[in-house]
Amino acid sequence: MATGRVEPRPTASRTDSDAVALEADIQATARALFAAVDRARPALLSQARWQGEMMDWAMADERLKVELFRFVDVFPTLGSGAEIARHLREYFLQTDVAPPRLLRLAIGATGRRSPLRPAAVRVVRAEMLSFARRFIVGSDARSALPGLRALRDRGLGFTIDVLGEASVSVHEAAAYQQRYLDLLDDLTRETKGWPAAPAVDRAAWGALPRVNVSIKITSLYSQIDPLDFRGSVAAVKDALRPVVRRAMACEAFVNLDLEQFRYRDLTFTVFTELLDEEEFRAFDQAGVVVQAYLRDAGDDLEALVSWARSRSRPLTVRLVKGAYWDYETVLARQEGWPAPVFTHKPDSDAAYERLARLMLESIDVVRPAFAGHNVRSLAAAIATARRLGVPDDGFEIQMLHGMGDPIKAAVRAQGLRLREYAPVGELIPGMAYFVRRLLENTANESFLRDAFAEGADIEELIAPPAPSARLDAAPAHPAIVAPTDPAAPSPFVNMPHADFARPGPRRSALEALRAVAGRPALHESLLIDGRERRGAGTTTSVDPARPARTLGTVEVAGPQETEAAVQAARRAFPAWRDAPARERAGVLFKAAEIMRGELAQLAALETFEAGKTIREADGDVTEAIDFLEYYGREMLRLDTPRRLGRLPGELNHYSYQPLGVAAVIAPWNFPLAILTGMTSAALVAGNTVVIKPAGPTPLIGAQLARILRAAGAPPGAVNLLFGPGGEIGEALVTHPEVHLIAFTGSRAVGLRIMARAIEQPGRAWIKRVIAELGGKNAIIVDTDADLDVAVLETVASAFGYQGQKCSACSRVIVLQQAYDEFLERLVEATRSLAVGPPDDPATRLGPVITAAAKATIEGYIEQGRREATLALATPEPPGGWPDGGFYVGPHIFTDVEPGATIAQEEIFGPVLAVLKARDFDEALEIANGTSYALTGGLISRSPAAIARARREFRVGNLYINRGITGALVARQPFGGFKMSGIGSKAGGPDYLPQFLEPRVVTENTLRRGFAPPDDAL
Ligand SMILES: Cc1cc2nc3c(=O)[nH]c(=O)nc-3n(C[C@H](O)[C@H](O)[C@H](O)COP(=O)(O)OP(=O)(O)OC[C@H]3O[C@@H](n4cnc5c(N)ncnc54)[C@H](O)[C@@H]3O)c2cc1C
Repeated sequence: MATGRVEPRPTASRTDSDAVALEADIQATARALFAAVDRARPALLSQARWQGEMMDWAMADERLKVELFRFVDVFPTLGSGAEIARHLREYFLQTDVAPPRLLRLAIGATGRRSPLRPAAVRVVRAEMLSFARRFIVGSDARSALPGLRALRDRGLGFTIDVLGEASVSVHEAAAYQQRYLDLLDDLTRETKGWPAAPAVDRAAWGALPRVNVSIKITSLYSQIDPLDFRGSVAAVKDALRPVVRRAMACEAFVNLDLEQFRYRDLTFTVFTELLDEEEFRAFDQAGVVVQAYLRDAGDDLEALVSWARSRSRPLTVRLVKGAYWDYETVLARQEGWPAPVFTHKPDSDAAYERLARLMLESIDVVRPAFAGHNVRSLAAAIATARRLGVPDDGFEIQMLHGMGDPIKAAVRAQGLRLREYAPVGELIPGMAYFVRRLLENTANESFLRDAFAEGADIEELIAPPAPSARLDAAPAHPAIVAPTDPAAPSPFVNMPHADFARPGPRRSALEALRAVAGRPALHESLLIDGRERRGAGTTTSVDPARPARTLGTVEVAGPQETEAAVQAARRAFPAWRDAPARERAGVLFKAAEIMRGELAQLAALETFEAGKTIREADGDVTEAIDFLEYYGREMLRLDTPRRLGRLPGELNHYSYQPLGVAAVIAPWNFPLAILTGMTSAALVAGNTVVIKPAGPTPLIGAQLARILRAAGAPPGAVNLLFGPGGEIGEALVTHPEVHLIAFTGSRAVGLRIMARAIEQPGRAWIKRVIAELGGKNAIIVDTDADLDVAVLETVASAFGYQGQKCSACSRVIVLQQAYDEFLERLVEATRSLAVGPPDDPATRLGPVITAAAKATIEGYIEQGRREATLALATPEPPGGWPDGGFYVGPHIFTDVEPGATIAQEEIFGPVLAVLKARDFDEALEIANGTSYALTGGLISRSPAAIARARREFRVGNLYINRGITGALVARQPFGGFKMSGIGSKAGGPDYLPQFLEPRVVTENTLRRGFAPPDDAL
């Protein structure tokens, strides 16, 4: 094995004149490269008319580009000519898409009655396949061989990339591992007899392996998750060990690609830890990637260099800008996280040049590979290498198969070693890669586009990048800066979820769990009239994962305390009602500030008391903060009386007043968010509140009361009672002084509350009830669905928080063409989920809430066995569930009739019914065929199906091509109709008015025929 080194020249101190000289070298190198580039050829495929046209269309019209690339993405799943024709028409005949003439003609020929249809479809199919194949060397090692051999004959090396779908199960990850092993064997065997190619077989440090494989760690472990950092590192290393062992035996090279930012730290840790293991310590045919578009890529590279130095072993580093720029920026915007990538393109370009230099200055331990198609960036690396005295065979250039071919010729003409990144795989899994490449070729800021399609001036193309003045800091998120000022609130933004890709949030979540686990049991009192009160007895709160462990005790209210709480609320009402809205909103904003400060601790308490996994608990607390911030602002919006009907002599003012005493009866499944939402809406509207948290989660309920009090809610405005719903809830619902009941919970209790609230005689007002009840929510999986999305989102929606969400997916309706493959992947993906204590970051399903809930769910599972086929059961492990926790593993039933009990009744547990539908009509009929209408989902790439679902899938919250849980305040206001509830959507603009009564005051301003001027009113 080659271990030779290239010695570094002492780093020259960088003076201005050095910089000027280097820049001159870069320009000269870039010009020399360009001189050998044939720029007359279009970006892609001059001879392939359609394909060249398609790229031109994409670049000319952004809207058309979206549809073109969406069609490319869906194309491999379209089984028949009719399906291809249907999708072509749906994508390109939309009103706001203007296809060019050639395309319009082709689409016109695909009409159902057109005699040209078969021919038109054949052409489209052939063109698409040949287009995609330009980027892929073969469907497997065998079919790739001629292509790889041709590369070598042209003096180019290769690194093989295995294209694949998302690895959603243990089963699929094992298949990937096997493919890497087979690839190493097959390629080693086949390439042995190939003639030597000195241009790619030797480097300054010695011989180079002929076989070079690039691996994506996400393919090797389906449950990879930065939150479970150590577990993921261990699992990936386990999967990788045999592959690296085989690579050593085959004398092949292994590279770990870098994927999305959230896997960056995992990839580096896997790489360094694995190679530090005794058996791999001497292996130096391994490499990793540094992505220059990451703001902190310099730290990545420095850490790798010092690691390599500490072990005196060289490593290969491939420098790229990064392939996931759009994804990272969109995700960061959606989540409210600082973008990990630069957002100004020249910053990435400048970082590339800086990092290239750092790699070359560390040539004693770094074997550089400069990847990309930007002539300026490559010239910078080449010129810097030459200036630093690194020989031309001391580094290599890497480019993608099917891209930048004219530049490849120019690089080869310089006598430099060039390696192609050569994907192998089938078309369906290849499409994601293919679409990334299309985007890369047509992006506004793409070098290839500028150089070859736009024909930009060479001077412009090779000019030095002009980075922004301040590169270091990513912009802070507005929600985290300061407490909201009720006099001048900034526009509402959602509280970001914890970004567990970063070590800080991971650490604080785990530390909070340790702290909460280690502290003594809590004791919480009732809160009545601003004072802590004892009750008629106490009850305990236990950890559903360890029922023997008492988390705390709470005082239980009897009739006396309930009465006292209502009376306190009644007395406090007039003053609170008349307090300025700003003061009331100020209490909410202050409470939000306190919650932000205690976020990790509150989430940790939820993990133990409600059995929520770490991520779910974080989501619940952030939602609670959102409600406080949102309803505070909503009240300020509603507080200004509106003038209606601007007519002289008449003054009409429309305003709101609160109702009185509100009873808030909350569920345990979102123990802080829903409780906070209902309470804060009632409170900020000027009502006074008696809160009754759910039986299993009183300790979290107590935190809300404490926080509101600390935030300045006056005595009596917020009162807290613990106790059984049947007694306290009933007493509050029927109490003559209660004006308003906000309830979230089961349908049976909700209906009873409505009946009891209405029937109480002898009052001076009609009670108002706001009730959010259950759901029997369905996801429809269409024939053309992206099954990666369908499987992952169904699993998350059905089994997140053990299915104990009213929004959870409990039916998945699959069109028959997609059924078999979807079901197989769904079952395997679900089987791969870890069931266990929710404070373990590896856990995907924790316990259900109580022993009674477990028994109910198990009853439904028994029912399912009678009326359907059990496709997946999760039996109790041989030694029983850990610590006697209330666990029910995930269950999937197939052959479920739409009218079956398990397809009609809300189960509130990890039980999923899979139903097959003949066509989309039937799927919609089944989906709408229950008494609930809360959430629903559609996974489809058909614009017509999406449009139909928007109209006809009648649920309160319809989600398309994503999961159906996790509604965000102000972005997806939440709530349903039919038997799913009464009232308007939580977290939406119509929610707060339910806690208010509108009033209109009309004044006749005409006195003796004289009215004030209209403008003065
Ligand atoms: C052999 C090879 C292997 C590769 N392996 C990987 C890998 O493991 N992981 C990976 O992520 N990528 C990998 N890539 C893909 C690579 O990241 C892209 O091909 C590369 O970013 C394109 O850069 P360029 O210099 O060729 O083109 P240019 O057109 O100069 O740069 C385009 C790049 O600039 C960045 N960018 C675009 N817009 C902005 C903006 N507004 N602000 C900041 N930056 C912006 C993006 O990274 C974009 O891809 C590999 C590429 C090659 C050739």
